[in-house]
Amino acid sequence: MPFSERIDRLKSSLIREILAAAQRPEVMSFAGGLPAEPMLPAVDWSQMPASLGQYGMSEGEPELREVIAAQARLLGVPCDASQVLILSGSQQALDLASKLFIDPGTEVLVEAPTYLAALQSFQLFGADCLAVAQEADGPCLSDLRARLARHKPAFAYLIPTFQNPSGVRYSEAKRDAVAALLDEFEVTLLEDEPYRELVFDEGMASPIVGRLRKASWIYTGTVSKTLLPGLRVGYLIASPDLYPYLLRLKQSADLHTNRIGQWQALQWLGSAAYADHLAALRSFYRERRDAMQAALQEHFSELANWEVPQGGLFFWLALKQPLDTRTLLRPALAEDVAFMPGEPFFVDPERNPGYLRLNFSHVAPERLSEGVRRLAAVIRDAQAARAA
Ligand code: PMP
Repeated sequence: MPFSERIDRLKSSLIREILAAAQRPEVMSFAGGLPAEPMLPAVDWSQMPASLGQYGMSEGEPELREVIAAQARLLGVPCDASQVLILSGSQQALDLASKLFIDPGTEVLVEAPTYLAALQSFQLFGADCLAVAQEADGPCLSDLRARLARHKPAFAYLIPTFQNPSGVRYSEAKRDAVAALLDEFEVTLLEDEPYRELVFDEGMASPIVGRLRKASWIYTGTVSKTLLPGLRVGYLIASPDLYPYLLRLKQSADLHTNRIGQWQALQWLGSAAYADHLAALRSFYRERRDAMQAALQEHFSELANWEVPQGGLFFWLALKQPLDTRTLLRPALAEDVAFMPGEPFFVDPERNPGYLRLNFSHVAPERLSEGVRRLAAVIRDAQAARAA
C-alpha cells in the first residue's frame, strides 16, 4: 500500500489487544489508568450557551486559557494566557511535540521506564529514544549528565510528579539539578503532569519548567485524571519561542479543541465544587492505595520490591526473580486478573524484564485482595515452571 514511510513503525500493541479481550465484567483489572467510575462527577450542561456549537479559536476558549495560566503561575510557571494552548487531552501535546521536533533518527531523551503512549508517538515519527535510569527520587543525575554530554536530544520528555508507570515523584533537589542540566546543555523540556493533583500526602514540588533559565519548554496538563477523561480537554503551556509552531500544528491537526468540553472544564477549574471534588478524590484513592499496599504486603512480599506511591494511580513492582511479565498476561487472564506488563514502558523491552504496573484505582477494595492473591499465584507458578 502507498502508505507513508512512518506507518512501518506503527506497531500494533499485542498487549492492548489482549487486554481489550479482557473486558469481561468478572475480570479484576489492574491494567488501565482509568479514574474510578464512582468518582466521575455528575455534570450539568443546562447553562451552556448554544453559541458554543460554533467553530472556536485554535488557541482555545480565552477564559479557560486565563484560568490555566493563573493556576500555572501559582506553581511557579512563568506564563500568561497567550502561552496556553488548549488541547484534545494532554496526549495531543505529545503528538504536536513529536511533529515539531522529530525526524527519523532525531534523539529524544526519556525516563526508563516512561509512558508507553509517549514512546509510541515519538517512535512513530522515527525518534531514537535515549533512556535515563530512574531512581526513587527522580532520574540518575550522572546518567543524565553523561547522556546530555554525549548526545544532543531535541527534547527531554519527563513526568516528574507521580510518574506513569513508576509512581516516582522527583525530589526538590533533583528538580533543581535536572533544570540546571537542561539549561547547561540547552535541551528543551517537555514536562507532562497529568497526576499532579492526585496527591496523598502533604508533599508538593513545583514544576521543573519554572526552574529553567535558558532552555525552551512545554508544560502539559489535563483534566482527565481529576474530572472526566471523556471531555478530552488538556492543555500545553509553552515558552514563547515554541508557541507559534505548536499553534499552527494544532490548527492543521484538528482546528480547535471541542468547545463543549472546554466549557464544562471551565465550570470546574478554580471553583469551590472542584476543590471539594479533588479532596474527595484524594481520600478515595488514598484508601484504595492503602488497600492495595495491604494486599501486596500479604501476597507479594517474597516476590517483589516496590515503593508506596504518594500519588497517581499505580504501583510499580520489580520482581525479585525477573522474568518476561508479558508471558504472565494470558495465565493471569485465565484467572480473571489483568495487569500491565512492564516491558513496553522501556525503550529496550527485552533488556528490562520483571516489572509489573498495577493500577489501584479501578478494582473495589473488597475484590482487590483476591485479585492480588491470584496474580501472585500466577507468578509463583511461572517461576516454578522455569525452575523445573
Ligand atoms: N501523559 C501521561 C503520563 C498519561 O498517563 C496520560 C494518560 N494515561 C496522558 C499523558 C494522556 O492523558 P489525556 O490525553 O487523557 O489528557
